Formats: sequence, C-alpha cells, structure tokens
Amino acid sequence: MSSQAAQSVTNYARGASHQFSGPTDPAADAHWPSGQVRKGFFTDTSICIGCKACEVACKEWNHNPRDGDLELTGWSYDNTQSLGASTWRHVAFIEQDRERIEQARESGRKLVDLGMPAVRPSGSSSGEGRAAYRDQDVTPPDTPEFRWLMASDVCKHCTHAGCLDVCPTGALFRTEFGSVVVQDDVCNGCGTCVAGCPFGVIERRSDGTAAPTTRSGEKKGEQPDVPKRGVAQKCTLCYDRLVDGETPACAKTCPTTSIKFGDHPDLVETARDRVHQLHEEGLTEARLYGANELDGVGGTGAMFLLLDEPETYGLPPDPRVPTADLPVMFRRAGLAAAGMLAGAAVAFLGGGR
Ligand code: SF4
Ligand code: SF4
Ligand code: SF4
Repeated sequence: MSSQAAQSVTNYARGASHQFSGPTDPAADAHWPSGQVRKGFFTDTSICIGCKACEVACKEWNHNPRDGDLELTGWSYDNTQSLGASTWRHVAFIEQDRERIEQARESGRKLVDLGMPAVRPSGSSSGEGRAAYRDQDVTPPDTPEFRWLMASDVCKHCTHAGCLDVCPTGALFRTEFGSVVVQDDVCNGCGTCVAGCPFGVIERRSDGTAAPTTRSGEKKGEQPDVPKRGVAQKCTLCYDRLVDGETPACAKTCPTTSIKFGDHPDLVETARDRVHQLHEEGLTEARLYGANELDGVGGTGAMFLLLDEPETYGLPPDPRVPTADLPVMFRRAGLAAAGMLAGAAVAFLGGGR
C-alpha cells in the first residue's frame, strides 16, 4: 500500500470527518490531495454481445481461481451465475420466455431483445474489428417468443461505500481514483462488509473445495490451490493497472466497447448522450443506473445503461448505504440519553426531599 493510502486509512481510523451521504468527491472526502480526477466505468448494455471476454480477462489479470468445478447450470446459458469472491466481473444473461415477455408488455414497457450471446469473427478485438462494430446496425430486434438482455456487472465503487464504512479493521480503503479496494493482508474475514454492501457484491472467498473435479491431470476431488481463503474479495478497478496509467483489463478486452473506462465526469456525459440517442431511436426504456448523485449511495463510480428496470437485471432499484442514517441515529440516541439523564436527575432530586 502506498504511503498516501496508509494515510487515508489512518484518517478513517482516527475518525476524521467523513461524509456519510449525499453528493461528494469520494477521494477528497477520504483526504486525498486534489488533482486526481475520479475514475469509473460506463457499461452500455445495449451493445454487449455476451461474449464474457471481460469475465475471463478479469480472472486472468487478477489470478482469480475458478468457482468450484466447471459445471453447467442446466437452466441458463449463464454458467457463472453471479458476482462472487473469485468472479469480480459477471456478465448476467437475462433470458425471458413468452410468458415473462407478455407480463412485461402488460405493464406497457417497450421491450428490447439483444439476441443470443455471440462470439464474433476473429480479429474483433483489434482496432479494425472495433471499427467494424461501430459501422454495424446494432438496433436490437423485438420478438414475441424469447428475449435476451446482457449486462456485465461489477463492483459499483460507490460514492458512499457500505462495505468500507462498516469494516472494523480498515481493510477496505478509498483510493486516489475514488475506487474502493480491499487489503488482503489486513482483512480478518469477519464478513461485516458483506452485510454492508447494498448490491451484494463483496464476498469472502471459500476454499473452493465444494465440488470435486475430474479434469485431466488432476485427481478426483483435487482442486488447484486457492489463495486468500476466508478473505473478502471484489473488483479493485484494477488499482495495480491504474497506478501505472493502464486501462482496467475488462475494459481493455471488451470487443464492442460496451465497457467504457475513463474520467467519471466525462463518462456521465457520455452516458446521458447515449440514453438521449436511444430514446430518439424509440428505445424509451433505456435508462441510467448509478449516475444520480442524489441516490442512496451518492451515485456510483461504475454506471450502467440498462434497457429495462433494474430489477430485471437483479439490481436493487433504490440502493441505500446502511451508514446514511448514522447522523440521524446519533442525534436521536443523544436526545434519548439526555432525556434519561434528565429523568434520573429529577428522580434523584425528588427522592432527596
Ligand atoms: S458495490 Fe458493494 S462492494 Fe462495491 S463499493 Fe459499493 S458497497 Fe462496496
Ligand atoms: S476493473 Fe479489473 S478487477 Fe475490476 S472487474 Fe475489471 S478486470 Fe476485474
Ligand atoms: S466483453 Fe464486452 S461485449 Fe463481451 S460480455 Fe463483456 S461487456 Fe459484453
């Protein structure tokens, strides 16, 4: 950890002033010197093709182990299923059949179908390939039978991060880029942060031995060694890459530029322009998630363009950091304590007569 990061953690430990809710620059709030613009993601789900390259890139760069054995869910093409201690990027597949589509239509929503997840021709991650994507008509078709939505989910790097605010050891800290990072060697595995995250992102890593394996070269029941067992884990916004001026691995890999990385204020502007464009094209259900600094977490560093309600993607519609109510709770507890003291004083004085 850098000396500045250590200073930031120390400030938290000393109880230095810290804003628990509302709009703020999270790095400045954590006492970083000004100068570094907040970094973040804008994930435009309308151009995601569900290739899961971002998931793989994240696993590779961070040397994250696999989650148990490689198994098919049997009910979805999405076999990684959710974010977790070893899956810091997860591409959710929202697969809806005719019945679900009709239920959604009854609400008057204009539905979008992105089509089945696809692997594009080789060379698609090159500059030439990306240019080819930009020239394609990606207007999603609408179908009465089945629809697919895809969304690459990740830690939101909240402006007010519940995980960080409730951690008793200071293992989580705010970086100079405004992101939230776990220090593996400080985390004691208590799991308080797991309950503090309103998005269900952070998780403790299990030993990975739940499922036996029969892969070649490994004996049945044998798993590769799992590092950092019991320690809380999540996306770091590739802190190790950012300090070297590099783009996070997932954004660098995404062949359609669905994951955009950059300065947070620029990304908010890009995101708003994109929603405006989609609305003009008739995709009136397009909306931003995490771009409102007046929401319950003060906005997020990782924002998303969704094509339906957040619940459709398994996201909370109105996330709220648990510590947002602390000032009010402290005030009320103070008033209650003062009332009790006054009552005790009256009883004492009255009893003395
Ligand atoms: S999404 Fe959860 S884990 Fe990520 S910064 Fe916010 S509270 Fe922490
Ligand atoms: S920013 Fe880095 S750690 Fe986070 S999801 Fe992307 S590749 Fe993984
Ligand atoms: S790499 Fe890009 S297009 Fe592929 S699943 Fe991830 S976000 Fe979607």
